[in-house]
Formats: sequence, structure tokens, C-alpha cells
Amino acid sequence: MSCSCHSHEKIKSIAILGGGPAASALATLLAREGVRVAILHRPRNAPLLVGESLVPAIIPILRKLGVEDEVRGFAKFKPGAIFNMNEFGDYPFTFKDFCGSLPDYAYNVPRLQFERTLLEAARRAGAKVFETEAKVERVTSTDKVKLSRETLDVVKEFLGGEPDLIADATGRARVLPKLFNIPSREGGRKDTALFAHLDQAEVYKDGYVHSSRLDYGWSWRIPLPGRVSLGIVIPSEHPPKHGTTPEERYDNLLKHDSVLSKATAGSKRITPVVRMLIVGVIGFVVMVACLYIAALSMRRISASSDSTDNVTPLPKKSKSKTKTRHESSGGFMERMEDRWRRRRDEDL
Ligand SMILES: Cc1cc2nc3c(=O)[nH]c(=O)nc-3n(C[C@H](O)[C@H](O)[C@H](O)COP(=O)(O)OP(=O)(O)OC[C@H]3O[C@@H](n4cnc5c(N)ncnc54)[C@H](O)[C@@H]3O)c2cc1C
Repeated sequence: MSCSCHSHEKIKSIAILGGGPAASALATLLAREGVRVAILHRPRNAPLLVGESLVPAIIPILRKLGVEDEVRGFAKFKPGAIFNMNEFGDYPFTFKDFCGSLPDYAYNVPRLQFERTLLEAARRAGAKVFETEAKVERVTSTDKVKLSRETLDVVKEFLGGEPDLIADATGRARVLPKLFNIPSREGGRKDTALFAHLDQAEVYKDGYVHSSRLDYGWSWRIPLPGRVSLGIVIPSEHPPKHGTTPEERYDNLLKHDSVLSKATAGSKRITPVVRMLIVGVIGFVVMVACLYIAALSMRRISASSDSTDNVTPLPKKSKSKTKTRHESSGGFMERMEDRWRRRRDEDL
């Protein structure tokens, strides 16, 4: 955020750059407090967007924004998650086993609809949305920023002049950090995400988000109403081996990967494929966060004496060597944590 007023002055107006969930939520809360809020939103062209599977921590925010009922109407109820780790076994867990005071569920959402709902809530609260690309510039010889002349022209009548505050909610576009040359840190990984919607795909538990280890990389499967979002995240050298266009590469990976070919047998892709480069920190953080949440939750599950029918607890150490689907292997936690530490040290 950048403020052109003095800290003791009450902020009366704000320009929020971006129109994603962060921008809309901030706009709603500030508009309710009587702040004049302009959202400068460069509309998205993509038919598909990442960010479809929500976590329980978001539910109190949806309630506060007054949109949970509306979101429930178009979302898929999400009671938990499953991590498929091939030879290491499958690890399903329900949120109710480790969410503490948080709600014990979340939602999988068609993302564009979700964003529209949040933006509409901001409008209802009194924020005004300007569909334009926001441009900012530095105020000479200071550490302050201002809207560029052409952007100010769009909002100044509504805001009554320059905004008291500018908030950057442009996500990966990083408008203000770029202006201030604040570097982003990239790790060693250069993965590619290819994702699309299928008419169906195998899901072991309805509504659960599935994260699966693949022959190379990993994939997500997010059940949405009437479809499944499936994303593949793999080292960038692999997709070109499977075709020229994102569609060819995605379809061939579904056919040739040993996990995905089973999970998507008989399914049909119903959208174009989106390709996204996921450099070190993001890819690594998304993956590690998934694994670490799994590890933490499993620790709690294994520590709890009463399992529920939705949860496969870690087995007590046994001499049995056979493993079946949904059965866990002893020592998994240690191996995953070891691997996680090694990769973290390599990447960061
Ligand atoms: C591969 C991948 C998978 C993910 N999966 C999930 C998931 O399943 N669940 C989940 O919760 N999160 C997921 N995320 C993370 C999630 O997408 C982000 O946390 C979330 O979108 C951040 O919201 P935001 O509002 O901060 O930014 P964004 O959603 O990125 O919104 C930024 C907005 O700013 C606009 N903008 C950019 N520059 C300008 C400008 N100059 N002027 C005006 N507007 C501008 C953009 O058009 C966009 O509308 C995933 C991320 C990745 C990379």
C-alpha cells in the first residue's frame, strides 16, 4: 500500500489495483467503513483460472463478506482432501479432524463465478469498479507512488481527486513491487502447469481435492459441479515431448502418465488448456504446502485415538508388508519430511 496522506489523518479514499479476491474483499470491508473505494480492474480474458479449491480458513471471510450462501449455490462442497502418493499409499483426511475452531469444510468453486460474486459484493457495499488497467508512477525524489495521469482521469471524479491510499492487489502482476524494483525470489524449479476441465475423472471421495504424484511431477483434481478441473505440474522439459500445442501436450500426458491414464479413462476434455509457467518459489511452495499440510494432518490423525469413517489413520507399526489403496506406510512422515527439507535447502 502507498499512502499520500499523513498517518494521523483518516483515510477517506482508496484506489485498489486489481479485481481478484483480495481486491474485492478489501474493497467491501473498506466501503462498509465509509471509505470511498475505486477498484481498478483489468478484466481477465482467460476462460479458466487457477484458485478453484478453497480452504476452511476462507469460510469466516465469506461469511463476513455476506456471500457464503451465494457461493454454496454454485460450488461443490469440500469436506477434505486426498494425497495419492503411489507406492507410499493414499492419504485422505477430513477437515473436521484438524481444523480446530475453523469451520470443518470448504468449497471448490468455478473461479470466474466466484470472482464475480466477490466483486458484486464490493459493488453492493458501495465500491465502484472501473474496468481499466491501472498505471502508477513514482513521485519524484520520494518513496511515494501516485496514479498516472491517464488512470487518475478515470477515477478522480468519483474519488474527488487523488486517492489517499493506493493498494496493490494485482497478484502475480506485482505492479508496485515492480515499480520499486523489489525482486521476487525464484528457486531452482521451473515447472509448467497445464490445466483444463474434464467432463469427469475418477474421484475416490466426492468433493475431495485430489493431489497425485505422477510419473513426472504431480497433478490436482478438483471436483466442480458437473466437471472436474485437472491440472498437471511437471518439469518444463517434459511437455514438449508430448506435442506442440498445450492441448496436444495435455491430452497426451493424460494418456501416457500411468496415474492419469487410469484416473481419466473414458473422460473428455471440455475446455481449452491453459499453460502457466510456475517458477521455483510458487511451484515449490504450492507443492510443499500440500505435502506439509498432509503431513501435519496425518500427524494429528495418527495421534488421535478415534478415527472417523472418512479418515484412514496411519497404521500402528506393523510387520505386514502388503499395502492396499487407502492404506498408509509406516515411516512415510519421516521420508516426506526428509525429502521436503532436502528440496527446501536446494531451492531456497
Ligand atoms: C497453479 C496454481 C494453482 C492454484 N490453485 C489454487 C487453489 O486451488 N486454491 C486456492 O485457494 N488458490 C490457488 N492458487 C492461488 C490463487 O490463485 C491465488 O492465491 C489468488 O488468485 C490470489 O488472489 P489475488 O486477488 O491476490 O490475485 P489474483 O487472483 O491474481 O488477481 C489479480 C487481479 O489483478 C488484475 N491486474 C493485474 N495487473 C493489473 C493492473 N495493472 N491493473 C488492473 N488490474 C490488474 C488481474 O487481471 C487479476 O484480475 C493457485 C495458484 C497457482 C499458480
